[in-house]
Amino acid sequence: MTENPIAAIATTPTAARTLAPLCEHLDGTLWLPEKLNDVANGQVYTGSLKAHLESLWATQKALIFGLATGAVVRLIAPLLRDKATDPAVLVIDPEGKFVVSLCGGHQGGGDRLTQEIAAFLNATPIITGASHGLDLPGIDVLGVPFGWRKGKGDWTAIASAIAHSQPVQVMQEAGSTLWQDHLPASHSFVFDRKDTHLPRVYITPKQYPPDPVPQVYWHPRVLWVGMGCERGTSFELIEQALKTVFEQYGLSLDAIAGIATIDLKADEVGFLRLCDRYDFPLKTFAAEVLRSHSVPNPSTVVSQEVGTPSVAEAAALQGAQRETLLVSKQIFKGEGAVTIAIAQAETEYSDRPGQLYLIGTGPGSLDQMTPAAQKAVTGADVVIGYGLYIELLRSLLRPGQIVESLPITQERQRALRAIELAFQGLTVAVVSSGDCGIYGMGGLVLEELQKIGWDGKTPAVQVFPGVSAVQAAASRIGAPLMHDFCTISLSDLLTPWEVIEKRLQAAAAADFVVALYNPRSQKRIEQIAIAQRLFLEVRSPDTPVAIVRSAYRPDEQIQLTTLAEMLRYPIDMLSLVLIGNQSTCHYQDWLITPRGYNSFKS
Ligand code: SAH
Repeated sequence: MTENPIAAIATTPTAARTLAPLCEHLDGTLWLPEKLNDVANGQVYTGSLKAHLESLWATQKALIFGLATGAVVRLIAPLLRDKATDPAVLVIDPEGKFVVSLCGGHQGGGDRLTQEIAAFLNATPIITGASHGLDLPGIDVLGVPFGWRKGKGDWTAIASAIAHSQPVQVMQEAGSTLWQDHLPASHSFVFDRKDTHLPRVYITPKQYPPDPVPQVYWHPRVLWVGMGCERGTSFELIEQALKTVFEQYGLSLDAIAGIATIDLKADEVGFLRLCDRYDFPLKTFAAEVLRSHSVPNPSTVVSQEVGTPSVAEAAALQGAQRETLLVSKQIFKGEGAVTIAIAQAETEYSDRPGQLYLIGTGPGSLDQMTPAAQKAVTGADVVIGYGLYIELLRSLLRPGQIVESLPITQERQRALRAIELAFQGLTVAVVSSGDCGIYGMGGLVLEELQKIGWDGKTPAVQVFPGVSAVQAAASRIGAPLMHDFCTISLSDLLTPWEVIEKRLQAAAAADFVVALYNPRSQKRIEQIAIAQRLFLEVRSPDTPVAIVRSAYRPDEQIQLTTLAEMLRYPIDMLSLVLIGNQSTCHYQDWLITPRGYNSFKS
């Protein structure tokens, strides 16, 4: 079973036919009543739908109904418990024109799934959550991308205040502020003003005393707890000591990044149990590393025993990469003895493995972008790309998503930024037009990863291919590629011109069909003329040529011409120039290169 199982249910043939390809796309299970067994590929349930649904409810991440909304509401009503645990529920009309996010929109991921499905079915997504309408991130999922832990609070009251555009104070004392940079102008958050009567969102390692004003807590994991102990100290004592210190200093256990200690304690049972229980990482350091820190409470006894005058304090500092402590050493004795010190890191720890999606968006219209790539854009925490491509993707974006558009010239900066964010645990989509691996961002990102000694695994990289300009242009004029072809970019920004010229000569001589990318810019106007001259040396002046500008975009232009005449037509950076081989021919408005060359002239 997949990690996030999805089940769809259809009770009519039309709905079954709509949901079957969708289930394939989502890797979900389509459930059908016996009478629809032959209509679509799915699993058959016997007995009543009500009973079947009860068995699906607890195990599925999302349920998609091809049923009337009213029927769905009646079916799920007795099963709804709590939005933190209920599956997402979606409804699709039989023809697949509308996708409704019925419940579990935020925490259940229903809104996101609705968008993804709508993109796949070319349907209208219906998302009625207030924060979605306001283009705001859901407050109950705000910290998820950053690995923050959700603390206490009156989540319903705060969500309702936000939904009503009432001012809500944000007290952010730790963690990434990236989310703040991407709020719509109309948001009603008030930052860093101590206005006692406003509902409040705390983003902090602390836990403040109760207050009559509604409030919620997100805890960025910034606290490194340095610990030392006598061998065999009981888990109970360690846990109690930890709770006591945190209580005393007004800190939340949810803000713990991890436990830090000396490497001799890597197998200390009490520490291991604590880390297991609370899902903390255990970081251990060698004595010489710990020795390098100057601490408030060094001990000569400890130094003689383990080779460093401090374990707890030095380990906290080392874990947090800081020079001062938040809480200096506290000692607890009972069944053994444990020391605890705390330091606060500048950036939060995230247990989410970062991911980089390298995405090709196709030539211009969303229709030409693969469903897998669309899904990846919707699913990412961050989308990075050139402004124009981001605009193209607008309908796939989710409220609260961090979208960074950088000018077209700053491609390397874009790659570095994506890597930086992925190392923080975020899922980052880097978008390129066409295919990201063809004169796109894909290579740049991988090159930069290689430079910093990436292990090939973290962050995980996934490449989503796209329809490249060469295929897009070719499809508009028939089948000009068909046989052996090559692409050559005339841009000498990253490649020396001599190399480009050599390739042009070789491709011309080898009778490849050739697609020229980046044929001419405002400054670079000579290259296309040189390319033409080199081809004319070996190919007939009548060789068919197509100039396709902005394929699949509203301003698309197509010009069929010949090698001799091609420079008479406008060619710019939005154009692709396709030069046929010896066998390519014009036919009506089409360009055809035969599959085989029986009459090949050598
Ligand atoms: N990664 C892209 C190519 C980027 S290089 C891809 O795979 O398509 C940019 C060049 O691609 C442009 O100068 C132009 O030559 C070509 N190009 C990109 N999109 C195009 C389109 N829609 N129509 C025609 N040419 C296009």
